[in-house]
Amino acid sequence: MDLKGKKAIILGVANDRSLAWGIAKKLHEFGCELGFSYLNEKLERRVRPLAESVNAKLIEPLDVNCDSQAESFFKKVSLQFKSVDILIHSVAFADRSDLEGQFLDTSRDGFGLAMSTSVYSLIMASRFVKPLMKNGGSIITLSYLGSRKVVPNYNVMGVCKAALESSVRYLAYDMGPSGIRVNAVSAGPVKTLSASGVKNFKSMLSSNVDNVPLRSNIDASDVGMACVYLACATKVTGEVLYVDSGAHIM
Ligand code: NAD
Repeated sequence: MDLKGKKAIILGVANDRSLAWGIAKKLHEFGCELGFSYLNEKLERRVRPLAESVNAKLIEPLDVNCDSQAESFFKKVSLQFKSVDILIHSVAFADRSDLEGQFLDTSRDGFGLAMSTSVYSLIMASRFVKPLMKNGGSIITLSYLGSRKVVPNYNVMGVCKAALESSVRYLAYDMGPSGIRVNAVSAGPVKTLSASGVKNFKSMLSSNVDNVPLRSNIDASDVGMACVYLACATKVTGEVLYVDSGAHIM
C-alpha cells in the first residue's frame, strides 16, 4: 500500500492520544502530505508541535459548528494543497451530562449539540472537500459499536453514531459519481480525551479485554492501519469497518 504524494487533511487531533493522531502518523509513514485542524488556541499548543513533527503543510483552526470558519479553513486548504486525496473526520462531542444516567433524559439542546458536532460536521466537511478531490478521494470518519447496540452511558453518542453511519451511506451514494469514497472505521474503546467523558469508561476498557475474540484492546495505530487500507481500497465505499478485536461479533 503506497500513499506517496497523497494529500490528507486531518480533523480531530486534540493531543497525542487522539485516534486522529494515530491515523496521521500512519498516513505519514505511508507517504502522505498532511494538513491539520485544531479546535481552539488551548489545543493549538498541543496540536502544533505534533503536526510539525510530521512536516505538516497546514495547521489551522476549525470549530465545525462555525460555518464561516469552515469556509475559511477549506479555502486555506485549497490555496495550500490545490487538491486533496484523503479527509479524516475524527470529531465528536456531547455534554458530559448526556454521557451518564438515562438516555431518556437527553435534553433538546444536548441532542442538537451532539448531532451538529458529531454528525452534521461530516456532511459539511464532505461538501467543502468535494471540489478539492479532483482525482477522486477517500473520506473516513470514526464510529463506535454503540450505534447498533446499547452501551450503557454512551447514550446520545450512540444515536449520533447511528446517524453518522447512515450519513456515510448517503454521502457515498452522492459522491460516488465523482470517484469519492466515504467509509467509517468503527473502533474499539481507546483511552482518549473524549472517551474519558463517558462515565465508567475505565471499567469498560478493562472488561472489554476479557470478552473480545482477540483478548486485547486496540490502539490508535490499529485504526491508522485501517485508514491506510481504506485510502487504498479503490472499490470500497459506504462501509463500516470494525477495528475492535472482534467485539462486534459477540
Ligand atoms: P479526542 O478527544 O482525541 O478527539 C475528538 C476531537 O474532536 C478532538 O480533537 C476535539 O478537539 C474535536 N472536537 C470536538 N468538538 C469540536 C468542534 N466543535 N469543532 C472541531 N473539533 C471538535 O478523542 P478520540 O477518541 O480520538 O475521538 C475521535 C473520534 O473517534 C470521535 O468521533 C469518537 O467518537 C471516535 N471513537 C472513539 C473511540 C474511543 O474509544 N476513543 C472509539 C470509537 C470511536
